[in-house]
Amino acid sequence: MVDEIRKHAEAIYGDIVTIRRHLHKHPELSFQEYETAAFVKSQLDLLGIRWRAVANTGILAEITGELPSHTVIALRADMDALPINEQNDVPYASVHPNIMHACGHDFHTASLLGTARILTSMRSKFGGKVKLFFQPGEEVIPGGATHMIRDGVLENPKVDAVIGQHAMPHLEVGKIGIRKGKAMASMDSIFVRVIGRGGHGAQPHANVDPVVIASHIILALQQIVSRMAHPGDPTVLSFGKVIANGAINVIPNEVLMEGTFRAMNETWREEAHRRMTKMATEIAESMGGRCEFNIQRGYPFLINNEKLTDQVRQCAEEYVGADNVVEQDIWMAAEDFAYYSQQADACFYFCGVGNQKKGIGSSLHTPTFNIDESVLTLSTGLMTYIALKRLGS
Ligand SMILES: [Zn+2]
Ligand SMILES: [Zn+2]
Repeated sequence: MVDEIRKHAEAIYGDIVTIRRHLHKHPELSFQEYETAAFVKSQLDLLGIRWRAVANTGILAEITGELPSHTVIALRADMDALPINEQNDVPYASVHPNIMHACGHDFHTASLLGTARILTSMRSKFGGKVKLFFQPGEEVIPGGATHMIRDGVLENPKVDAVIGQHAMPHLEVGKIGIRKGKAMASMDSIFVRVIGRGGHGAQPHANVDPVVIASHIILALQQIVSRMAHPGDPTVLSFGKVIANGAINVIPNEVLMEGTFRAMNETWREEAHRRMTKMATEIAESMGGRCEFNIQRGYPFLINNEKLTDQVRQCAEEYVGADNVVEQDIWMAAEDFAYYSQQADACFYFCGVGNQKKGIGSSLHTPTFNIDESVLTLSTGLMTYIALKRLGS
């Protein structure tokens, strides 16, 4: 079966590259994927695949196999781009200033259309159903996945497994990165306002210095990571924005801070929220000031179902060779695929898209990110193979 799928994948490669380049050239921001969705629908129509609109700019499509079975597998691609000005000098560079497919979602969408095409031509070889999730808004909270789930994509018929893939530029093309169990982090945004009483820098005794209070808070909160988090629960707290905005001799009235909190355990996540809030507010009060501590919840952590991931790994080893399947490290970035993984058996793996010889390897979310397009024979075929194996073909 691997050989048959490979032949299909190679035959459609040129068309899928064209699709990927079209998407890359016309990126749209999160939850504004109108043209992208229209394009995907037109491609599905060409293949005779039934679809319905969900999550405003999302699409749920369905391919039914001809053999008897009730198994249902979902394959997911995200479609949104980022507010980045592309710097790649390629003929298919973004035509929209300050919008770019810098996270490879053009690749994910094109690849899933390729998989759909292969599956359609192999309908006599499998039973059950393959649901295709083309989702909006992965990059922006609350995440398009929440809208997809709200609109019932996991039900009617109920999905037995959800599979997703992501471009990984630090992995050479041809390689697949995979990890079972906890794989990616939950992500919460933290907004802190430390309120003191500003005045002349020469007379701190007459003021309440929010800069010193904020400094204590920053250091103290790290104790939550190093002294309170279970050593087995990866936890990260980073404050990337601290604004005091006084002057050499001016103590400001307040300090604003913004940071990110990441974890891989929902119970600990709640507990950490409570402890951070308590610690920050009580430190500020003990020093004569006040602290407003606001947490905006982001995505949950992403867990790859062990049994399903073992199966996916085996498929990958059969498709690309065991040497080309690597153990993926825990990654403290967040992905809204995590929402599917919290509600169904799910597996999210990484496709190497880097190529050192061709100079392709810029990080995700940078203006020079690109992929080695030859990945499209592998990515379309591997996902097809995973789906067919899961459906018992
Ligand atoms: Zn991204
Ligand atoms: Zn992404």
